[in-house]
Amino acid sequence: MADGTETESRKLLGRLREVMAGSDAGQTRLDKITNLIADSMKSEVCSVYLFRDEETLELCATEGLKPEAVHKTRMRLGEGLVGRVARTGNIINTPDAPSERGFRYMVETGEERFSSFLGIPIQRLGDSLGVLVVQSRDARKFSADEVYGLEVVAMVIAEMTELGAFVGEGAALSPLHQQSVMIKASTAQEGAAEGHIWLHEPRVVVANPIAEDPHRELERLQEAVEQLRVGVDKMLEMSRNGDKEQLQVLEAYRMFANSKGWMRRMEEDISRGLSAEASVEKEQNQARSRMSQVTDAYLRERLSDLDDLSNRLLRILTGQGKETGADMPPDPILVARNIGPGDLLDYGRSLRGIVLEEGSVGSHAAIVARALAIPLLVHAEKITTEALNGDHIMVDGDQGVVHLRPDDQVVSAFRDKIAMQAKAQERYTSIRDKLAETLDGEVVSMNMNAGLMTDLPSLESSGAEGVGLFRTELQFLIRNKMPKRSELVATYARVLDAAQGKRVVFRTLDIGSDKVLPYMKPNDEPNPALGWRAIRVGLDKPGILRMQLQALLRAANGRPLTIMFPFVAQFEEYRSARAEVDKAIAGEIKLGHALPSSLEVGAMLETPSLAFAPQKFFDEVGFLSIGGNDLKQFFFAADRENERVRRRYDTLNVSFLSLIERIVERCEISGTPVSFCGEDAGRPIEALCLAAIGIRNLSMRPASIGPVKSLLRRSNLQEVRKIITDARHRGEQSVRPAVMEWLRLQG
Ligand code: PEP
Ligand code: MG
Repeated sequence: MADGTETESRKLLGRLREVMAGSDAGQTRLDKITNLIADSMKSEVCSVYLFRDEETLELCATEGLKPEAVHKTRMRLGEGLVGRVARTGNIINTPDAPSERGFRYMVETGEERFSSFLGIPIQRLGDSLGVLVVQSRDARKFSADEVYGLEVVAMVIAEMTELGAFVGEGAALSPLHQQSVMIKASTAQEGAAEGHIWLHEPRVVVANPIAEDPHRELERLQEAVEQLRVGVDKMLEMSRNGDKEQLQVLEAYRMFANSKGWMRRMEEDISRGLSAEASVEKEQNQARSRMSQVTDAYLRERLSDLDDLSNRLLRILTGQGKETGADMPPDPILVARNIGPGDLLDYGRSLRGIVLEEGSVGSHAAIVARALAIPLLVHAEKITTEALNGDHIMVDGDQGVVHLRPDDQVVSAFRDKIAMQAKAQERYTSIRDKLAETLDGEVVSMNMNAGLMTDLPSLESSGAEGVGLFRTELQFLIRNKMPKRSELVATYARVLDAAQGKRVVFRTLDIGSDKVLPYMKPNDEPNPALGWRAIRVGLDKPGILRMQLQALLRAANGRPLTIMFPFVAQFEEYRSARAEVDKAIAGEIKLGHALPSSLEVGAMLETPSLAFAPQKFFDEVGFLSIGGNDLKQFFFAADRENERVRRRYDTLNVSFLSLIERIVERCEISGTPVSFCGEDAGRPIEALCLAAIGIRNLSMRPASIGPVKSLLRRSNLQEVRKIITDARHRGEQSVRPAVMEWLRLQG
């Protein structure tokens, strides 16, 4: 690194600090900054583009381009070179911009005169805020030192943006953290909640990105890193006698904490003029943007270790974080990027709601949130950037929307909605012990889905007839090591005790795809949903399946038992799995153990192939349960976890309903009991249509039983069936509009 450039970069940061310390309005500051940078880089143009909304970048200040283009010139994410830098997070440095792929000049700016182009992303903690651009007339390629220097400047601009330095009259940006914001998200657990934000890991605010005294900053960094290392060593020491894999993780973690490369890069950043905390954040930024690009699971884990270490280091340097002793509000709604099941269980029922920036509908956190009956939204983009501790927030788990700092109108509409829901709840309670009998006298059996002990009290309160789907993998997922057979026996026995004679359908372990056991080596599969999962694992490595079957037989101990195999795609798989049950029974007889008083063995129908299995399969299988979540994703070839496509195809699409009808018909021929246990069973309109095409047994989350039963009791299935048939004859894609219209006419 040339000393001269280093001094140049420090000088520039020194001048930036002066601008920031002045009392200018936001726009003037930004103008001065572009002017300073152009001057320091000896180039004609310096511009700052910032995001207007998620998709649009706006020229917010420029030195060298036409001033009248400021706040006029806009481009979409990915458009032109600037849009490309913003989208990819990668720098573009070219002496001949017009020959670059995707180049597009904005006539109104007059930029056609400039040949070289250097675009640097302005990012904060992986979030893209905009692009810093330097252009010059001569065809020059900027040196590595110049690029590096400008990266440091971009980092400072990002910090200033975050601190609201460009906010004010005629400002480039509107104030963060003050406006009311609506964020769309995905529902992992329904329900509505109002409260105040509790950040699981509060954002660290870097108030002074520019170093006043680099030597002092270097010392601060070294002291903090030392403290970090001591902390990690302590963690390691404490886990010495514990779990081997956890130890391996910590070893890797320590390796990072001691990484010379990481330290050297941060020291270099400081010598360029950044403060210690800004240098940590700059490296963290880079790790985050790499994280979003790498697909290799191992590398991602390591980058996420680095992210975690950076957070710790930032907390040490700034003294901010959990140890600030801020009090949790009385009505906390937890906001986090992501959270593990252990942490969530620590908070327990004290939370009113949870909003995660990442997470997924099938994640462990979602499983726990469901068990605790706390509304949970995931994929709430930028929520951790927008939210501050203590902010007022409303979580609409039914619509999948978060209202942050809502205005009065939203507040009153939302409260009305909560009041209406409370009223509806009263109605549901009043029909709890009544049958789901339709106006034309058809009775639909209402059952609930469960997976943890905490679910079981709902059997009583929801009025469910039984547990139509007990997802046994949840017991495996929330632990940090494989449960022993004796533990499983005890758990299943407690489930049967709690069910007090009601039928419980135990589904054998459904792991793989989105459900990865924390203590099993993850499979690096290109397409896990289509991969080695559920019964495939059970049959290929029968150890766990056998242990589970034995545990179930022993837990039943003379009581009735129902077992169901997940994800059966062909007859032979059912036969092999069924043979394992017979083997387990033979083993129990040998040991002189009591057998269940009755035994039902069935399969989940989750792949279209099974709907077309030989009739003999339907004759042999004890019962079938349609797993609509998986069946639908394979039928439409649309990943249930992929936000882009998961809502694209309607369950009430005529083709999908035809498939279900076909399954019902085949079950009727063989007299095979059939139920439906995917999420759609708990959606009133979907449930109504499923009943209309012949499903007489539904299993859903407990909270859905009231709304579904209430609608069924007010409907005539023959009429609904006719509406479905007519819509199909009219060639409609989905029967939803026709059914909705019918419901509207029914009032
Ligand atoms: C389903 O696929 O519909 C189902 C009930 O199983 P899971 O959601 O657990 O995959
Ligand atoms: Mg499934």
